[in-house]
Amino acid sequence: MITSVYFIEVTYLLASALFVMGLKGLSHPETARRGMFLAEAGMFMAVVGTLMNREIISFSWIIAGLIVGSAIGAAMGYWVPMTAMPQRTALSHAFGALAAALVGIGEYLVRAGEMGRIKLGALDFEVMLGSLTFTGSLIACFKLQGILRGTPITFKGQNIFNMSLLAVILFLFGMVIHDPLQPAHFYLLIALSFIFGIMLVIPIGSADMPVVMSLLNSYAGLASAATGFVLSNNVLIIAGTLDGFSGFILSILMCRAMNRSIGNVLFGAFGSVIQDTGAAAAGGTMREVQLEDVAVQLAYARQVVFVPGYGMATAQAQHAVRELANLLQHRGVDVKFGIHPVAGRMPGHMNVLLAEADVPYEALYEMEQINPELSTTDVAVVVGANDVVNPDARDNPASPIAGMPIIEVDRAKSVVVLKRGQGKGFSGLENPLFYKPVTGMLYGDAKSTLTRLAHTVQKL
Ligand code: NAP
Repeated sequence: MITSVYFIEVTYLLASALFVMGLKGLSHPETARRGMFLAEAGMFMAVVGTLMNREIISFSWIIAGLIVGSAIGAAMGYWVPMTAMPQRTALSHAFGALAAALVGIGEYLVRAGEMGRIKLGALDFEVMLGSLTFTGSLIACFKLQGILRGTPITFKGQNIFNMSLLAVILFLFGMVIHDPLQPAHFYLLIALSFIFGIMLVIPIGSADMPVVMSLLNSYAGLASAATGFVLSNNVLIIAGTLDGFSGFILSILMCRAMNRSIGNVLFGAFGSVIQDTGAAAAGGTMREVQLEDVAVQLAYARQVVFVPGYGMATAQAQHAVRELANLLQHRGVDVKFGIHPVAGRMPGHMNVLLAEADVPYEALYEMEQINPELSTTDVAVVVGANDVVNPDARDNPASPIAGMPIIEVDRAKSVVVLKRGQGKGFSGLENPLFYKPVTGMLYGDAKSTLTRLAHTVQKL
């Protein structure tokens, strides 16, 4: 018995250390894969340790759960495309949070009468966060998948309604601690938390969904940590806390990259009113350029900077851009990639795609590193990016995205924008960059345009 407890605690300790090392690895693209493997090994250790628990009566349900869960996880990993990764992540958060809430309900049914106040508080916290994260994450997933309208769904007095709902939930929270043997309070707390999760996320536009998801991820982590307190399980406390705080820090970093506050993201209904104050809205024309001319421009340039955005992800153009970059490098062109922290639809989106296409890490430059180089860049090639290169954020204080740091491609000697047509960015705003004399528009799907550019450059 003692050996088994000792073994479990050692595996949990190892698992926790692997989680910390995994997170550290994930903080840089170069070490991210290794970080992921370490975190996976940590999760494996945690599962092994848990299976050694002597309180397990029968393994049949556990094995059934393992088979079904692994099959679903493997299928999602294999078939869900990279572009659908944000909604897939939202779905994982939803079910992780639901699991935490269900464990809480199970514990309530078995032990409510014998729990002290602190444990009851942790249990309340677990089911409240688990329930609201479940419905909130489902709404985030539906919005990102287009099942629900992506723009904010609002009504008059929504923030007041939400605050009142939260006040009732917190009252019930106290009532459960005061009298745990009143199941009505407990189940009403859960039902209202489900509704609160929906109400919290529907007023938020899809463009802000990654921030919301990272916040919900943080809630799911904190719910797991609370589960750890209820079950006296150390690995759940450590992993849940790591998850909770890293999710929260990520949300803050994303908001900073968009020059917004978390309060503005959660309660600002960003994207509901699109007032186009941009220079573009005042008129002007976009200058279309020919593929052959761009190929010559690139082939004889000294320095070329590619700036990828969400369009590169939808077009799956990462391999094509790498091929073109390789060809240019062989011709002696200095090629760099400028990566905006919120390009695409999730943090690190561009890094992941470019790493998949074997673009070397040394060629990737963060926004702060690439901006000073752009004035001496011959051609900046915007590959399906829009908002992250919108100069209105810098030049127009009336713009809804004013103050958001951008990659300043308009400072380059020449800009070529690869996009399919006149489509706007995720903020729904016009982009004056496309109307500037320095900019040429090369229309078409990014992957096909880049492939044709590479063929043409090869022939020069
Ligand atoms: P974006 O502003 O959404 O613009 C993407 C552009 O790609 C569109 O204008 C579209 O124009 C073009 N496009 C789409 N499919 C294409 C294809 N197959 N080939 C070529 N072009 C294609 O993207 P972004 O510049 O990357 O900006 C990201 C946005 O998401 C920002 O507003 C950011 O604040 C927001 N956001 C991101 C995160 C994150 O973590 N990454 C978090 C929060 C918010 P056409 O339709 O004309 O082709």
